[in-house]
Amino acid sequence: MSKTISINAGSSSLKWQLYQMPEEKVIAKGLIERIGLENGISTVKFNGESEQITTDIPDHTIAVKMLLDDLIHLNIIASYDEITGVGHRVVAGGEYFKESALVDEKVIEQVEELSLLAPLHNPGAALGIRAFKELLPEITSVVVFDTAFHTSMPEVAYRYPIANRYYEDYKVRKYGAHGTSHQYVAQEAAKVLGRPIEELKLITCHIGNGASITAVKGGKSVDTSMGLTPLGGVMMGTRSGDLDPAIIPFLIDREPELADAEKIRNVFNRESGLLGISEKSSDMRDIIEGKKAGEAKASLAYDMYIDRLKKYIGQYVAVLNGVDGIVFTAGIGENSDIVRRDVIEGLSWFGMDVDPEKNVFGANGIISTDGAKVKVMVIPTDEELVIARDVERFKNAN
Ligand code: ADP
Repeated sequence: MSKTISINAGSSSLKWQLYQMPEEKVIAKGLIERIGLENGISTVKFNGESEQITTDIPDHTIAVKMLLDDLIHLNIIASYDEITGVGHRVVAGGEYFKESALVDEKVIEQVEELSLLAPLHNPGAALGIRAFKELLPEITSVVVFDTAFHTSMPEVAYRYPIANRYYEDYKVRKYGAHGTSHQYVAQEAAKVLGRPIEELKLITCHIGNGASITAVKGGKSVDTSMGLTPLGGVMMGTRSGDLDPAIIPFLIDREPELADAEKIRNVFNRESGLLGISEKSSDMRDIIEGKKAGEAKASLAYDMYIDRLKKYIGQYVAVLNGVDGIVFTAGIGENSDIVRRDVIEGLSWFGMDVDPEKNVFGANGIISTDGAKVKVMVIPTDEELVIARDVERFKNAN
């Protein structure tokens, strides 16, 4: 019996899912929160039940030990040996990683080094990788990068029109993110359409708290909205997305204390997007409620959000010179029929049209009208499964 665990570790949290492989059956999943803070919380979901423990969890190694001991205590595993593989989600792989990789010390150091590109994500991921290496040193350990799928982008798309030396000296370029998700939903979309992916032009919209749009041609990413870091592209929960870069020096001239990398990063990463405009919430459900109640700021936030999504989809119709399908996925894409309707309604000229009878809460598959030229789909993403499959692939190759 072989069990593989998918890990998505952040600076203070660790999300996990345990699979029976190769059956791809989810045995248990959970979330450890508030690592390094007081009153840490570990939640395990198993057999339709949920168990929660609150205790101090000082670091990632203790979090992983807790998770493994929970699995034993709940009789999910009899001993650590049953776990034969672990896969870690890493946001930034930079130019080092064009695909998933087996973990060794050099790989961990590279993940740490790339923290500059994903300051909210890579440091926590590295801690998670080290914790598993310490506790389960012998198992197949794999890192799966959000950026890997986008390494197929052509140079015209990934370079910024700034002096070459910034690319040459610091590798300032577009890397994108959410690649595992975009790749998975594009492959699933080809199945839904019953056509080989090699002949399809797709635009995949991963819209959750973080959001990115990707142009996928023949199964390969040819452009994506996130940039050097996950701050670029469309408007998000707390992130601004694309801006006129002159805004930064303009603000620094007026508020000199913003001339601090950490402070200015915070302004655009944590205080902007839906939250910044609505002054209410970064959560789309609250924004929709506010709009329905006639709140002006929430309405503006919602309308701006839809506007930015439409513009990116329009751009990518141009990049691809046509499109066969639009895919919606992640928290908002999978759950909000209203967002999907409003985005597609504004793109009717392209031959996109959503069928209100199909575009309902819980929809899965095609939601466009039968006659529409472009198929619009809802496809739930499953990054954890892709990670578990990658671990399996490396295990079988060894
Ligand atoms: P993350 O990027 O943190 O993984 P998710 O993919 O879980 O985020 O997406 C979270 C977003 O999904 C939140 O903005 C939340 O409001 C939104 N969401 C979840 N359910 C709904 C719904 N029924 N209607 C609108 N938005 C929803």
